[in-house]
Amino acid sequence: MMGQVIATMSSATKSFDKQKVLDNINLELQAGKIVGIIGPSGAGKSTAIRCLMGMEKLDQGSADIFDTKMPNRKILKRIGYMGQNDALYDDLSGKENLVFFGSLMGLTGTALDRAIEKNMQLVDLLDFLNKPVKTYSGGMKRRLSLAITLLSNPDLFVLDEPTVGIDPSLRVAIWEQLRELANNNKGIIMTTHVMDEAEKCDYVGLIIEGKLFAFGSPKELEEQFKVTSIEEVFLKAEVNAK
Ligand code: ADP
Ligand code: MG
Repeated sequence: MMGQVIATMSSATKSFDKQKVLDNINLELQAGKIVGIIGPSGAGKSTAIRCLMGMEKLDQGSADIFDTKMPNRKILKRIGYMGQNDALYDDLSGKENLVFFGSLMGLTGTALDRAIEKNMQLVDLLDFLNKPVKTYSGGMKRRLSLAITLLSNPDLFVLDEPTVGIDPSLRVAIWEQLRELANNNKGIIMTTHVMDEAEKCDYVGLIIEGKLFAFGSPKELEEQFKVTSIEEVFLKAEVNAK
């Protein structure tokens, strides 16, 4: 049975100045699934994510979430978005950031406290709750951003390189949480540089020079490219694309 479609990009095309950064991208995400976007640096992954969110305007094509053209303020409330760059208050503590963003999402009282505890434990930052964010390492900031994104209970997560700078053992725990969210019928679309993460996605989209070069389950892509890992798919596709 097909899951409910919660996000689509259709014929999405976008240029910056004269450079075509997205070229006719078609993507679909269903509830309960994790879609991973991979591709070389500068391929257009973040632009695709930002266009899906409606943060950048497409030149052609459309981006829809929950059957609504983006951007849409009401729909934004149903999305947990994590950009490629951390948007944190450096002078505030981790906890103060969590409380601030949590209350923006409408969380208060014990519900907020519980969500903070649960998610800071997940990202292994409980010991640093009261330390100023400016004392955090890059990876710790990433982990705090992820904890903030997971605080509320949105139906869709849009994550741009959520695990950059995060150690492999912690990534395993974070992936267990992402899979649990998907099992609870949440949709997740994420970009990643980490090929073993791509392997864990239900579907992988490979963007090269703004084009969706391949899309399918990891197994389908490996069969299509006659290789045995997503890493080899990536390498072979890069050569083929030239
Ligand atoms: P990726 O996330 O795959 O590394 P990006 O989507 O960030 O790639 O960038 C794709 C291309 O678009 C790059 O060449 C980048 O320099 C360019 N680009 C991204 N954002 C802008 C912008 N706001 N103005 C001009 N060029 C941009
Ligand atoms: Mg990027």
